[in-house]
Formats: sequence, structure tokens, C-alpha cells
Amino acid sequence: MTRSHPLDEIPAQLWRLVTLARHRVLMFDYDGTLAPFRVERHEANPTPGSIELLRRIAATGHTTIGIVSGRPLLEVEQLVGNVPATFVGEHGWERRAPDGSLLQRPIPPPTQEALTRAFESSNGKPWSARLERKRTAVVFHARGLPEAQAAEWSSECEAAWSAIAQEGRVSLDAIQGGIEIRARGCNKGTAALSLLTHAPDGSIGVFVGDDATDEDAFDALRDWGFGIRVGPRTGPTTAMGTLPSCDAVTAFLTEWLDLTTRPDETPLVPS
Ligand SMILES: [Mg+2]
Repeated sequence: MTRSHPLDEIPAQLWRLVTLARHRVLMFDYDGTLAPFRVERHEANPTPGSIELLRRIAATGHTTIGIVSGRPLLEVEQLVGNVPATFVGEHGWERRAPDGSLLQRPIPPPTQEALTRAFESSNGKPWSARLERKRTAVVFHARGLPEAQAAEWSSECEAAWSAIAQEGRVSLDAIQGGIEIRARGCNKGTAALSLLTHAPDGSIGVFVGDDATDEDAFDALRDWGFGIRVGPRTGPTTAMGTLPSCDAVTAFLTEWLDLTTRPDETPLVPS
């Protein structure tokens, strides 16, 4: 029996694009991509070795690193630690460049009001203690609940928020481990393109992520690079490659570092 390799589902054509590009912007979602999920989300630490690899890749000068998360900016910065990267929080509503400069987009008052209504609609409900109120979103976290309870509360929560989402200022998504209602206007696709816009001419964009919200980035990069979906295959994706786990993401980083620092005369694709 042949053992599968963690990089089996990354087509050779993608490595060729990476090695031939004049510059690369390599972007990562955080949870489920650089860090395995934890019931206690503040304990979701990066996969061992992954952050050191990001530092080494950034140090080559040939690849710009971006971390693009739905988490608040400060939270993802604390979890990742010191990496010369652009950090994007709350799906693009906040961003810090490697030089420390901070961009925080304001939320229109009617959108803010819709999010407050979504949060308050859960007052007195049994799932209210599982809500996270972010600046640009409200999340119901179902991780760690018994399966039947998670399904019941998720569907009640979705029912409570769907009328607010239909007003058009916020979107409602089933995400890994919960449900999120968030401000429209920024998503991981707009965030990925923004990072690519600030990169040197001729850059290719690569986005690695595991969730439905990462599909926006895969889609946005279709003409400028490609997406890589992490985790078991569960549904349709516009990503051009897949990685089965967070550990495979670390193997991908190792291969990236190797290929982009090889002398020109060596083969362009892994053997
Ligand atoms: Mg994720």
C-alpha cells in the first residue's frame, strides 16, 4: 500500500507558479490553518515549527507574509507572536503593517446597530454565554458542545439572526465551530487583494485557509495566484490545492522555503 504524502494534493503546476514568480505574497488564515482548533480559543497555539518557518521565509526577502484572520487583530498578533508580517484582523476591518502602522476601518453606524440588535436578540437565551461580540461581528461558538445541542442552538441562533442579515448590512455565515454575523464591506477576498496591491509588481498571491470565509480569498486570487484549502474535503471549493491538516501546512512551509531558496539550476518542482 502506498502511503499518502501531506503535499500530494498540491499540483506541481502550483509549485511552478511559485518558483517562477518575481515575488510572492503568502497569506494564512489562523484557526484551523496555522493552529489546530481548541475548545478554549485563547489556547489555540500555532503548530510547532510553523512560526519559525514563517520567520525564515520572510527573511529570504522573496516572499511577503500575511496573516488574515476573523479574530480581532490584537488577539491574532498575540497568538502568532513576532513575525515580520502584515496582520489583518476581523476579516479585513483592521490591519497592521510590518512597520507597526495601524489601519482600522470605521463601521457605519447602521451596521453597528444591526450587530448590537443581533447580540441583544440572544438575551436570556441558553446560548447567550457562548456569544463573542467583536467590533465588526458577533459569533456563536458551538465548539465543545454535544453534537445534538450544538445543532439545536446553532439553528435557533441562525433563525434569530437571519431577519437582521436580510436587511443587507451584515452577512450570516456558518463557520467552523459556529455561526457568525458580520459587517458587509470587507472579507478575506478584499483583504487578500489589498495585500497583493501593496506587493512588488509581478507578485503572485497564495492564500491558505480552512473555512467557508476563506473561499472569498481563493476566489479573489483566481487571476493573481491560487488558494489552498486545509482540512478534509467536505464540500465545493475554488482552491487549486488542498492540505489535509495543520501539520501538512507546516510541511508546505518547509517545501516553500526549500523551493524558493534553491539555486536556479535545480528542478522547479518537488521530486
Ligand atoms: Mg480558519
